[in-house]
Amino acid sequence: MAKETHEFQAETKQLLDLMVHSIYTNQEIFLRELISNASDAIDKAHFESLTDRAILEGDEDFEIFLVPDKESHTLTISDNGIGMTKDEVIENIGTIAKSGTRAFLEKLKEAKEDGGAISDKDMIGQFGVGFYSAFMVSEKVVILSRKAGETEAVRWESDGSGTFTIEPGEKENRGTTITLYLAKEFYGSEAGTDFCDQYTLQRLIKKYSDYVRYPIRMNFETEELPRDKDGKVIEGAKPEKKVELKTLNSMQPLWTRDKKDITSEEYNEFYKNQFHEWEDPMDVFHTKAEGTVEYTALMYIPGSAPFNLYHQDFEPGLQLYSRHVFIMEKCKDLLPDYLRFVKGLVDSPDLSLNISRELLQQSRELKVIGKNLEKNILKTLAKAMKDDREHYEKFWDAFGKSLKIGIYGSIYGGNDTKDKLKDLILFKTSKEKKLVSLKEYVERMPLSQKKIYYATGKDEAIIDALPQMELLREKGIEVLYLTDTVDEFTIESLHEYDSKHFQSISRGDLDLGDAESEQEKKETEKVAKESGDLLKDIKETLGDKVAEVKLSNRLKTSAVCLVADEQGPSLSMEQTFAEMDGPNMFKAKRILELNPHHDLFQRLTKLHEAGKDGQDFKDYCDLLYTQALLIEGILPENPVDFANKVAKLMAEANPAQ
Ligand code: ADP
Repeated sequence: MAKETHEFQAETKQLLDLMVHSIYTNQEIFLRELISNASDAIDKAHFESLTDRAILEGDEDFEIFLVPDKESHTLTISDNGIGMTKDEVIENIGTIAKSGTRAFLEKLKEAKEDGGAISDKDMIGQFGVGFYSAFMVSEKVVILSRKAGETEAVRWESDGSGTFTIEPGEKENRGTTITLYLAKEFYGSEAGTDFCDQYTLQRLIKKYSDYVRYPIRMNFETEELPRDKDGKVIEGAKPEKKVELKTLNSMQPLWTRDKKDITSEEYNEFYKNQFHEWEDPMDVFHTKAEGTVEYTALMYIPGSAPFNLYHQDFEPGLQLYSRHVFIMEKCKDLLPDYLRFVKGLVDSPDLSLNISRELLQQSRELKVIGKNLEKNILKTLAKAMKDDREHYEKFWDAFGKSLKIGIYGSIYGGNDTKDKLKDLILFKTSKEKKLVSLKEYVERMPLSQKKIYYATGKDEAIIDALPQMELLREKGIEVLYLTDTVDEFTIESLHEYDSKHFQSISRGDLDLGDAESEQEKKETEKVAKESGDLLKDIKETLGDKVAEVKLSNRLKTSAVCLVADEQGPSLSMEQTFAEMDGPNMFKAKRILELNPHHDLFQRLTKLHEAGKDGQDFKDYCDLLYTQALLIEGILPENPVDFANKVAKLMAEANPAQ
């Protein structure tokens, strides 16, 4: 066979051109691609040897070997895999057959047909393009290959500019040797990344190919100072070069091992190494599936929530592997956002290495895997809640907020998230100050109670002190304590649980449902009728500050409270909105409620009788309103005015009486 020159297939040329001339942001991945090819080739040799042992020619020590050569600026990657015949080299290396590459070129064509300028930089970075990626870092590539079981070897050479040559070659052992003549940006101390540097190679193999099943070996050069017989460094002696054969990869991916053989230390160590964590994880999920889509997942719930979990700069996502070869660091499309805290990886032979992020998003396999993982995690959490409550509450303390945000977020994305999560949420309540699920709350509700009551406040003590709590406490009605800003939004998004509506103790009608309350309601209505003018005039005095003034059914010893109506946002929601968007975005409809049984009410009636335009009546109205604001934790618009009015009142009061 003489030396032949071939043209690359048109599309290949196009691709090579892009490879050579584009600024690929992540050139180092060429190593991953070539090692992955080498590993596949060994897989094939191994597979064939099962039926035809002779093809191994006695060489059963499978390996991938790297030789960086600083003199000739080359990097050689050899494998003793299946190798290629001449025809196979032409077929495999000269044409584009793989789906990922084809999809890439189709996109390219589409973009061209649309007349749009294509940004090579944007597009090419999204694709892994196998062997051709070698041209990103090389000005010339030589392949020397001998097919297992054949005697003739073949030598292929190309500078990536449109043609390649092919000729017979000499090769003692089977397999493929790829020699990259590195472009000058990629070797020597001036290089951004020096691919002749043994430490760089070691790092890249660890990063991308640590779990390749075959050893990736390299002769590692070190310098050592000579020592005498006693092991002491000989003074003045020159360092000696030492060469040590090193295996750069660990080969055994933890997740491929049998669950029952893995200790929790091993799981924890792997977690800390792999995800750069310091603390042991709270939980480990290790699952294998062999259905329509085959995969292994190893996921962790971290020991505590990262400080930036809810910040924009937090990047959720699981690592992706295909046949133990690393594809992607943070695949966001696997788990729903409410599980953003989960760390881990998925390894599936059904995912292609050469897949873009866009294609990945549409990947059916990925969807199936994601759904299963979500189900799996939710099932485990539900089980923990039932069987190991203490552990679940620890989880809840760290990550409960994520689930609550998930429910709130579901108002944009359908109901199924709500259904999935509603039984996993916990709140403290007025009964025991212990965390209670909605199910537990509903199960112990008295028959007469129709609604699930909740109160909002910065902490439990503040809620306990709310005047609105008094009546419910007296009647022994359990109230959920919503102390996190997201809580009320979550509850409002749920709307109901087990057909029972949620009712804020600070909004609308409490609707307690018992006979005694009904009776009290009637009496209050009667007093309200008699005091109609008083209520009207208080409203008039306060103007726009309140939407309504009415007599309260919810107060016992307190004189006054502020509530919001049923429809609009609550007062605490108003505060949250104000913190986010600045004031006046969403205003609660404020209703001032007065306790008709309080002495102050009698006093107010008297002042009113003396004249609704009297300064005292006006000051009283204002002070009542401001008190109600303060109880809700809202600062009055004019604190000085409030203080002055109180001071005046105190000065006028006669303590001796
Ligand atoms: P992919 O690896 O995705 O198939 P590549 O462009 O990387 O795409 O490689 C094309 C083909 O060339 C491979 O499918 C394989 O048949 C062959 N090939 C590449 N590298 C080797 C190798 N080291 N040994 C044997 N065959 C190889």
